[in-house]
Amino acid sequence: MNEIRVFTPGTVANVACGFDVMGFALDSPGDEMVVRKITEKTVRILKMEGFNLPLEAHKNVAGVALLSMLNELNDNVGFEVEIYKKIKPGSGIGSSAASSAGAVVAANKLLGEPYSNTDLARFAMEGERLASGTAHADNVAPAIFGGFTLVRSYHPLDIISIDTPDELYATVIHPQIEVKTSDAREILKRNLLLKDAIRQWGNVGGLVAGLMRSDYELIGRSLEDVIVEPIRSILIPAFQEVKLRSKEVGALGGGISGSGPSIFMLSRGQETAEKVKAVMAETYDKVGIDYDIHLSKVNKQGVKILGR
Ligand code: ADP
Repeated sequence: MNEIRVFTPGTVANVACGFDVMGFALDSPGDEMVVRKITEKTVRILKMEGFNLPLEAHKNVAGVALLSMLNELNDNVGFEVEIYKKIKPGSGIGSSAASSAGAVVAANKLLGEPYSNTDLARFAMEGERLASGTAHADNVAPAIFGGFTLVRSYHPLDIISIDTPDELYATVIHPQIEVKTSDAREILKRNLLLKDAIRQWGNVGGLVAGLMRSDYELIGRSLEDVIVEPIRSILIPAFQEVKLRSKEVGALGGGISGSGPSIFMLSRGQETAEKVKAVMAETYDKVGIDYDIHLSKVNKQGVKILGR
């Protein structure tokens, strides 16, 4: 087997209370990639369809992730990559993470799976370092592992898969405004009040327990972020209204997807998620800002092999 085609999903990182540690994968949007094994220790991005992103391997996150894998391999192998991108870069839905994760999962299959999912996340994180300046794992982990993930520790890297209730749906709206990840990081405070930290880790624990017990009410109560959201949400027009109106029609809760500007809401069942989609659209129609909306079940599988 020398060639493989994969689907690689968009992801929602942070998930309200879990800044830099929690994330989950979506069924859509997602990209497709073709990865080919070659007998030359190099990485070539041959095709980039959908968005205008660099073809130079060291400037494309897929290339950077694969180069970091090749760095640890003694064999004379390398990879050629084609990317068919549907997830808009800079949307807050893990566009770069999808490319990094898809590339390393596909390459690992072609090599006979020498690496664990945690190893793959470590390589993919180098792609994230290129995209945002920090090697965070909260998008690449759910893309690789599927479902919900918790990055319990970065040093050493310890990624935990968390059970995902069957009826959990996400509605994600991407308003067409630009929020730079670097700006979204810079405005954060460097110091926290202990009382806020206590509330936040209570919520992270509650969210994990709620997911594992399929306790939708507990999931909803725990989707609260007292640290990052109060500051970052200022960058997103109509944020509070979207949240409020989504909850009125039955959403469990939600927040900023990644560093924004996308907003995610979680719901029990597709019917409620559809209602959330309608009120999100209505809110942004009123404000007069264009948007994309994605409705998706939480994707339990992550990167999926489409064919060889
Ligand atoms: P978000 O998570 O908000 O969607 P990203 O983490 O996807 O944002 O960051 C996008 C940045 O990464 C852009 O600056 C883009 O140019 C860069 N980039 C490099 N290679 C890729 C790739 N293969 N896919 C997506 N973005 C890439």
